[in-house]
Amino acid sequence: MVDLSRKFDVLVIGGGNAALCAAISAKRLGADVLVLEGAPKFYRGGNTRHTRNMRCAHDAATDILTGPYSEDEFFEDLLRVTEGNTDEDLARLMIRESKDILTWIVEQGVRWQPSLGGTLSLGRTNSFFLGGGRAMLNALYRTAEALGVEIMYDAEVVDLEIDNGMFLSATLKHGDGRTSARASALVAAAGGFEANIEWLKQYWGEAADNFLIRGTPYNRGSILKMLLEKGVEQVGDPTQCHAVAIDARAPRFDGGIITRLDCVVFGIVVNRNGMRFYDEGEDIWPKRYAIWGRLVAAQPGQIAYIIFDSTVLTSFMPSLFPPIKADTIAELAGQLELDPVALEKTVAGFNAAVRPGTFDHTILDDCRTEGLTPPKTHWARKLETPPYYAYPVRPGITFTYLGTRVNKQTRMLMKDDTPSANMFAAGEIMAGNVLGRGYAAGIGMTIGSVFGRVAGREAAKNARN
Ligand SMILES: Cc1cc2nc3c(=O)[nH]c(=O)nc-3n(C[C@H](O)[C@H](O)[C@H](O)COP(=O)(O)OP(=O)(O)OC[C@H]3O[C@@H](n4cnc5c(N)ncnc54)[C@H](O)[C@@H]3O)c2cc1C
Repeated sequence: MVDLSRKFDVLVIGGGNAALCAAISAKRLGADVLVLEGAPKFYRGGNTRHTRNMRCAHDAATDILTGPYSEDEFFEDLLRVTEGNTDEDLARLMIRESKDILTWIVEQGVRWQPSLGGTLSLGRTNSFFLGGGRAMLNALYRTAEALGVEIMYDAEVVDLEIDNGMFLSATLKHGDGRTSARASALVAAAGGFEANIEWLKQYWGEAADNFLIRGTPYNRGSILKMLLEKGVEQVGDPTQCHAVAIDARAPRFDGGIITRLDCVVFGIVVNRNGMRFYDEGEDIWPKRYAIWGRLVAAQPGQIAYIIFDSTVLTSFMPSLFPPIKADTIAELAGQLELDPVALEKTVAGFNAAVRPGTFDHTILDDCRTEGLTPPKTHWARKLETPPYYAYPVRPGITFTYLGTRVNKQTRMLMKDDTPSANMFAAGEIMAGNVLGRGYAAGIGMTIGSVFGRVAGREAAKNARN
């Protein structure tokens, strides 16, 4: 039993990567640390459970990464995907510190493995967790426990006592009752609001009823909301989020990685009117996969269909669910409950527009359409080899970007721009500082690890003073 009558140095709210990195980092500096995880122990670790890799800069190949990935290249990638919507100081800090995280995280018990193959082609830029996110988390929890970090599960924080920018205590639901925890400093690492459909509806309207949430149902944004209501300055656009196209048959929450569909580049994508609506070959997949959730969200009924033929069936990681299969396009349309004439016309128009080229999905190849709107600018090949296949897809919301504004110490900034006396934030809850929009694979974990470590260090220092 954790003794809540005593005052801790650092209270960490959350139980994912950002929270654990913060807790370990604070504890290693001698702080007395309490972690409050809202989920039960089996579901500990929020969205981090589902992850596979992290993007870190490095000056030379490592035993698992194939080549250098300079700070400048990382920053250029971030600028491109965010279209410049990033806080440059924080982004450069994150990228610089990410180099060190490659070894620091191993010192906390996490193991790397070489990149997995497939359409994301991340062997140079992203390190994969041996055993995936859950194994990574287990290692962090083991280390935290061994160091003496106190951890409570089923400990949802339902209120924060904050006076003029200073954290005093947190009220948590525990068992049948409520109790409070006091600490000299707070690290908020409780994720975004992606699992709060009502909150999503404020910006997306009824369409949000058709969204599937890829990760934990526990990230309801309650801590974020409390902080914003109690004077912390907000950062980011509430409609911006990481959202991918996932199998429409996925469960409402926690479907994880096995429902994601990476085959857009291999075929065409149509809406429920059987019409294409976006360039499926716009850019290399790791830089573009995260726009497809938003694109599908904008279509009628928030549903779309990826159509491809038998030549590419084994070229990508399949969904948990088998693709829908038919010998003709018209028959496929029938199974998808689409207008067969419309779908046949779309496929025929696409095939007629395809120009010959040399196919290579790892580069921006020269296989493209001509005279078609929207075009397919790379990887365009005719759909002409039956059987034909389709995956129905819906927006799969990964995490939201609205967050708390922080400075380089991850200290939260108040609405009047003054730094909070003792409140820090890390992970999804402050991701909007560097991710104004867009995404490049693996940055979610970089944000959690880098800013988590900084937050823990700064909170420990703050508590001591
Ligand atoms: C399917 C999937 C795959 C992904 N793959 C990758 C990947 O390979 N690489 C990558 O970089 N990113 C990936 N991401 C994104 C990544 O998961 C997140 O960016 C990262 O895990 C966020 O870490 P975090 O610690 O901020 O949040 P989380 O890991 O989500 O942790 C938030 C925690 O806060 C707790 N919490 C929430 N509210 C409260 C409350 N009121 N009181 C107490 N606790 C509370 C939750 O229970 C949870 O434990 C993926 C996400 C999903 C859903």
